[in-house]
Amino acid sequence: MADVWNKEIETLSKDEAEALRMKNLKEQLRYVYERNDFYKKKFIDAGASPNDIKTWADFRSLPVFMDKETERACRDESLERFGHPFGMHLCVPLEEILVIKTTGGTTGLPTFTYSFTANDMARWNEGTARLFYLAGLRKGDRVLFCFPLSGCWAGSIVKDPLFQMHIATVEVGAETPASRIIDFARMTMPNVIIATPSFAEKFALEYQETTGNEVRELDINKLFLTGEPGVGIPAVKKHIEELYGGRWNEVFMANGEAYVGSCNQQEYRGLHEVAPDLTIWAADLVDPETRKPIPVKEGAIGEGVITSLKREGTPLIKYALGDIIQIESGPCSCNYPGSGYRIRILGRLSDRLLINGRSIYPVAIRDVVVSYIPMVTGAMRIVLKSLPPKIEPPLLLKIEHGVGIGKDALDNLAKKIAKDISDRFSVPSEIVFISPGALGRVTKKTPLFEERY
Ligand SMILES: [Zn+2]
Repeated sequence: MADVWNKEIETLSKDEAEALRMKNLKEQLRYVYERNDFYKKKFIDAGASPNDIKTWADFRSLPVFMDKETERACRDESLERFGHPFGMHLCVPLEEILVIKTTGGTTGLPTFTYSFTANDMARWNEGTARLFYLAGLRKGDRVLFCFPLSGCWAGSIVKDPLFQMHIATVEVGAETPASRIIDFARMTMPNVIIATPSFAEKFALEYQETTGNEVRELDINKLFLTGEPGVGIPAVKKHIEELYGGRWNEVFMANGEAYVGSCNQQEYRGLHEVAPDLTIWAADLVDPETRKPIPVKEGAIGEGVITSLKREGTPLIKYALGDIIQIESGPCSCNYPGSGYRIRILGRLSDRLLINGRSIYPVAIRDVVVSYIPMVTGAMRIVLKSLPPKIEPPLLLKIEHGVGIGKDALDNLAKKIAKDISDRFSVPSEIVFISPGALGRVTKKTPLFEERY
């Protein structure tokens, strides 16, 4: 059995874990109902009260209460009525909120989704430590921590669990001039980097310009790169892993929730949920169209709905996160004992395409294409001739072929990829090959679409 951070919780049997989750869920629902008018009204509108939620099926039958838009409206209303930005779902007196953070890339006014009480912060540290431990971080590792430290971005609290794990951090902050970070790194010799993908790539180039050597001389062998859309793009991942000579570990945390991440196995079998006692997500899968529950079984695709457990400040209850996930099947060779699901993140709901009435997610198409590396480079675009989501078949794909592949081989490859897509998604596709590198390389936000409308 794999070694885990929290032996007591992560090695519970499935039945024990489910009982604990149900206990925590009932407590959380009663807590928000008693303390918060916003949630109380959501229950009343649904014709239910926390006392009616006796079984998992009862909980699943509750409607979605919130999404990103509701959260923004909640913030605006609390600003107007109470003069604070924490939202109408705030469940504690204002002075209990000790951590005030938002996420990167927010347009317009920020939502302070990461508003934590002291206990919420401990909960965050616990869930995140389980992720880092699963990915192989241990006492004795030394982390170069390069998230922006200024502002109020949530990236800065990713370092707090490391302290609890007795893992040293060299906090440089992404705003520090590259030459200083290089000095720090060469003197303190970290073997782990935590940063955004675009920072890691930029730093590697600056390292080479400044020192004349490659960044891999630092021997940073574990990369935790997160916080922007470059995450999960295979071509970007491969490029950065080559620059550093290390392994890119995926972690996904949304709104102080979710807690899913990769283990340290070579074969990728999805991301592991490590904290089903602290947060519900994959287990509450809904159809993104109707927001009605769908059965959570191997291969199922849907929108995960977040419900916080054991959260005090701004618990999220029945919050449709907007990420489309797929339940992963089969065992993972890491033998992680936790009772959570394994999932793949297919993309944002807003990226969805509808072809012949079927939902298609660009990331799922890309996964098919990437499986043909080295015959292809992995870079591709879906060409849209009209405004999405509804598009006319066939699905038009522009794909970079690999170096030195002849025309006959490409004709064959096009047929194979099209058949694969048809078998998996029941949609016809048309494939146009272009030369390697023709699509350019962008780390920060590699587009999946080419818009021709
Ligand atoms: Zn695993």
